[in-house]
Amino acid sequence: MAIRDSAPVNATHSVYENLVGQEHAIAILKGAVDASRSGVESQEMTHAWVFTGPPGSGRSSAAIAFAQALICPDKGCGACNECRSALSGSHPDVEIIRTEGLSIKVEEVRELLTRTAWAPSMGGWRVVVMEDADRLTESAANALLKAIEEPGARTVWLLCAPTLHDVLPTIRSRCRHIQLHTPSDDAVAQVLINRDGISPAMATFAARVSQGHIGRAKYLALNENVRSNRSAIMNLPLQLNSLAAAFKAAQTLVDLATTQAQQSASDRDEREIAALQEAYGKGATGRGMATGAAKAVKELEKEQKARATRMVRDSIDGALLDIATFYRDVMMVQSGSADAIINTDMSDAIHAYAAKHPHHSTVQKIGAIMEARTNLSHNAAPLLTCEALMCRLAKA
Ligand SMILES: [Zn+2]
Repeated sequence: MAIRDSAPVNATHSVYENLVGQEHAIAILKGAVDASRSGVESQEMTHAWVFTGPPGSGRSSAAIAFAQALICPDKGCGACNECRSALSGSHPDVEIIRTEGLSIKVEEVRELLTRTAWAPSMGGWRVVVMEDADRLTESAANALLKAIEEPGARTVWLLCAPTLHDVLPTIRSRCRHIQLHTPSDDAVAQVLINRDGISPAMATFAARVSQGHIGRAKYLALNENVRSNRSAIMNLPLQLNSLAAAFKAAQTLVDLATTQAQQSASDRDEREIAALQEAYGKGATGRGMATGAAKAVKELEKEQKARATRMVRDSIDGALLDIATFYRDVMMVQSGSADAIINTDMSDAIHAYAAKHPHHSTVQKIGAIMEARTNLSHNAAPLLTCEALMCRLAKA
């Protein structure tokens, strides 16, 4: 494969290309990169940043783009060796921390601090991107705080979290804040059409029901079984006519979400184990080799199990968000804004439901869904949480 060593001379800042509808954030980041090159101390460039935004707004993409721009000779061309190796996680000065488990533990942070204590090998910046800073345990956050309070002269910390409240106040007070926004449906649809070659009708549908979450919109547009799962989930509110039906709906929801999470996880698990065995030399007969590989595979399987738990939770959360859009649409119809509904493909069912149920109970039902999501995020048992929720949704 040919390796392109240099970017085109007049390259645009293409590391920012995939950040849809984030012009304000991009302007701040570009200003910081300019300041970091000027050699003059400036408030625009600082050692700790926190990127917040709703799921799908691209907070980790923005942080990684910034990391690329800081180390790229061309301020983020997206094409040079620096940009590409930073993105793939193989650049010696850019560390991207992704969490597969439910939390980031203090031992992991300590290990990270040892690893990142060195000066940057290429002379620019040493950048650490932490994609799930909201998953830091309290002791892990405190260990990180020390590093952020006294950063190395050339070290930059980029933390990502859903909101500022998800980051310890002591940490966030030392960070510059980048707020990302949910892009418009039109902007998301345009990306799906132009970047992914998805048909305009499908792109518009996927963008609308995914409410600005680009990754989810793309996944939905490209997978028919994901779409049929979604439509089964969207029909659950219409089946809640007794308590027995409510329990059945809860089970269906958990089953569908679990299947979906398992489908996307199992391919990845197998790939990872195969790669690991490859690394240890599959079929190697040396005793030490076999023991080492078996131990590594066992550790990997443990990590994969933790990830599976998280993926099922995320999948249930996505299903609950989808169901919430049903009641949101009902509320729109009940308050006379029928043209603002998201699920236009269910328009008749939504109108019929809106006519039969009082407005105040719709509001309560949306509240109940949001409460269930909060409980799930605090590790409540998924099936139990969904049963309690469906019973509340089944009330008139
Ligand atoms: Zn570059």
